[in-house]
Amino acid sequence: MKKRILTGDRPTGKLHLGHYVGSLVNRVKLQDEYECFFIIADLHTLTTQVRRDEIAGIPQNIRDLVLDYISVGIDPQKATIYLQSRIPEVTELHLLFGMLVTVPRLQRVPTLKEILRDLKIETPSYGLLGYPILQAADILMVRAHLVPVGKDQESHIELTREVARRFNNLYGKVFPEPEALIGDVPTLVGTDGQAKMSKSLGNCIFLSDGPDTVRTKVMGMYTDPTRIHPTDPGHVEGNPVFIYHDAFNRNREEVEDLKERYRKGRVGDVEVKEKLARAINHFLDPIRERRNRLANEPGLVEDIIHEGSEKARAEARETLALAKEAMGLVYFVR
Ligand code: ATP
Ligand code: MG
Repeated sequence: MKKRILTGDRPTGKLHLGHYVGSLVNRVKLQDEYECFFIIADLHTLTTQVRRDEIAGIPQNIRDLVLDYISVGIDPQKATIYLQSRIPEVTELHLLFGMLVTVPRLQRVPTLKEILRDLKIETPSYGLLGYPILQAADILMVRAHLVPVGKDQESHIELTREVARRFNNLYGKVFPEPEALIGDVPTLVGTDGQAKMSKSLGNCIFLSDGPDTVRTKVMGMYTDPTRIHPTDPGHVEGNPVFIYHDAFNRNREEVEDLKERYRKGRVGDVEVKEKLARAINHFLDPIRERRNRLANEPGLVEDIIHEGSEKARAEARETLALAKEAMGLVYFVR
């Protein structure tokens, strides 16, 4: 039997280049080798966006996510794309797993501190604190072996492994201990030079951005702050424009030539950026083309979500039954 993958995204907006290198590229690469489940984690958005008007934005974001998935090459015939809120079993598993993790353990999860800082939240809600447990329930619900994610998610996968281990120790082996698969670029920097390209930081190039938008964003990118004139020798390592060149420019010769000249102070930022904008647009062109074609197919997104969620739900029922049986939690059943 094929091993399983689970990964996914919160429907909080469109996907960007960081998502691509961190997770999407591995999803596309592995969809034949593994049985894949891609979750649209709408319940997770509630951990940070709970107002009625924020919830009202979810359906459009779901639509965009599915279109992004298919545009980059995820094949809904091979992979199961499903909606978290269609799987009520996951909330029951979440509750059961909640008994296996201590509060201080959750408070130590590094992404919690980041979210509190970035969103200026003083104290986390019970739901936000429990975010990684719900994620563990998503992953273990389909008994996944591999989770392709960006580096920032590593600590969540570690917690998932702990939950699986603890459950198996207490009740017998039901769950595999899933492993994280980090992308070749573990965390893509933002266009502003911040450590992470992220929807909430506003430093993204989206997969659905048009050519002009890409160009404007690239021309405004942060480069080597120590370099004032094009004749100053510049730094290539850690320089966002070269990190992007390495990740998206398929013309290796051009990249090496630019790097060499940059180090010697023989090329200006404008040329480096113009070539980068062209490379990113070249990379995005086929994705855009597919997106445009798909966007007008009526019912496409609905069908994918309905079919995927049915399939995921069957898995969820089976796993929950196995878990409860292992726990001895089945009684007074008629
Ligand atoms: P939000 O600001 O809403 O948290 P985000 O842009 O940080 O959004 P997530 O939905 O948190 O994106 O991440 C989805 C997946 O993409 C995760 O596997 C995450 O690790 C990966 N990912 C997100 N941003 C990056 C990035 N800049 N580099 C590499 N991987 C990333
Ligand atoms: Mg995030």
